[in-house]
Amino acid sequence: MSYLIAIDQGTTGTTSLLLDAKTLEIKAKNKQDYRQIYPKPGLVEHDLNDIWKSVEDSLDKLFHEAKVNPKQIIAIGITNQRETTCAYTKSGKPLTHAIVWQDRRTAAYCDERRADYEKHCREKTGLPLDPYFSGTKMRWMLDHVEAVKDAADKNDLCLSTIDTFLVHKLTNGASFVTEPSNASRTMLMNLATQKWDTGLLSFFGISKDFLPEVKDSFTEFGKTKNVHFLPDGIPILSILGDQQAALFGQACINVGDLKSTYGTGAFLVLNTGTELIRSKTGLLSTIAYTHQGKTIFALEGSAYIAGAAVQWLRDNLKSIITSPEVETLANKASDLDQMKPLLFMPFFTGIGTPYWNSDAKAAIIGITRGTDNSHIARACLEGIALSLNDSVSSFKKDFPNLNAIKVDGGAAANDLLMQMQANFSDQKILRPKVIDTTAYGVAMGCLVALGKITIEEMPKFWKLEKEFNPEKNSYYPEKKKLWDNTIAKLYLS
Ligand code: ADP
Repeated sequence: MSYLIAIDQGTTGTTSLLLDAKTLEIKAKNKQDYRQIYPKPGLVEHDLNDIWKSVEDSLDKLFHEAKVNPKQIIAIGITNQRETTCAYTKSGKPLTHAIVWQDRRTAAYCDERRADYEKHCREKTGLPLDPYFSGTKMRWMLDHVEAVKDAADKNDLCLSTIDTFLVHKLTNGASFVTEPSNASRTMLMNLATQKWDTGLLSFFGISKDFLPEVKDSFTEFGKTKNVHFLPDGIPILSILGDQQAALFGQACINVGDLKSTYGTGAFLVLNTGTELIRSKTGLLSTIAYTHQGKTIFALEGSAYIAGAAVQWLRDNLKSIITSPEVETLANKASDLDQMKPLLFMPFFTGIGTPYWNSDAKAAIIGITRGTDNSHIARACLEGIALSLNDSVSSFKKDFPNLNAIKVDGGAAANDLLMQMQANFSDQKILRPKVIDTTAYGVAMGCLVALGKITIEEMPKFWKLEKEFNPEKNSYYPEKKKLWDNTIAKLYLS
């Protein structure tokens, strides 16, 4: 028997999967959560030592549970929280906490430089200037952290995303590498060339000396060395940022294939093939993966809040005890007439695609004497589906031929929500049997790198669990109209 390991280094924890290298059957899974650090409102950090420990513990427990000899591992794939920015020495010593993608500390810097950026950089990066992306976080570290400044002066500085840090640790410092789905989120890489761009580097004042080499997504990134829980010499063969890994894991390999991940927030990514499309509707242009010199591009839309709105019903309104109960409660509100005027706008932390309004707040409007908990729960699910539908509408404008939407993430288990998504978006929804699509994506990437499967053969590993077809009912287009009008009135005027 031979096995693959997929390491999914996420925002709240690290999940490891052990998979059969022939069938891709998941043999064991382990998740280790780690500390979130909130030094001030708007700031979010991770300790790189905590992250590394979560990887060690997760793999240790995985082998223990699966009773597999680590010598049977033939390759490792890594997927990671994107944009989170790390600074460490060439010997792998962390110089400061990682600045997490959610961190807003560089908002003022972005406001000051936005006009200049739009003129000189936007075309190259496909991204708006926003604290979310890594470039401004690296600039902040160079400006504000003495240890980072010192390391820069001594030419002993590594600045990178999490994937690079993990490979550096796994290879005992031998490899300092990344790949385009991560590098495209730094604002330092030119989307068209997949290389660090001199103009972008000088805009942010970051030397190329501090940045990793950008390789293809499925290739050899290095081999394990001196890691106490793994034998030396296991190759790391596949790396993708988490959303692109989910796209790959869903076998969205054809132009027009689209996936939607419903976690705390939600991310939609569309495969646009070898064509780099620049959105006219507020979507991000990014890279899905590169393989043997061929680049597959993607468009991306996001909603800051998806499952988090259900958490709010659970934790703040106490109308449910567990998140899945929202479906039973919402199903009690079967009288659609009562639902007609009711809207739940789930913008607790601003609006993402396509309006990008970071000051927006959530609202529930259209409450009548007959409104009860069940109607609010149903409106909450509608609000999640409607806000994601705004991204789907943007996709349709930029790219008219969308295929069915493949779904994953915790809230995709909710049948009512999936049916609403099909109805509001007028798209077929497909839910797969394997819901660990992110880790699964980089495991498949290992098989591609090993030459055991081709990318074209990937769909045979994808198995349907349930599909949801759009239902024709005038309720849905009417509600969509009310939603659009309300957004215009409340958030855009
Ligand atoms: P993340 O990776 O962002 O932590 P997960 O994919 O684990 O998120 O999904 C968890 C989120 O999904 C939570 O916000 C939770 O409220 C929501 N959730 C989980 N199950 C359901 C369900 N059956 N219906 C609606 N929301 C759900």
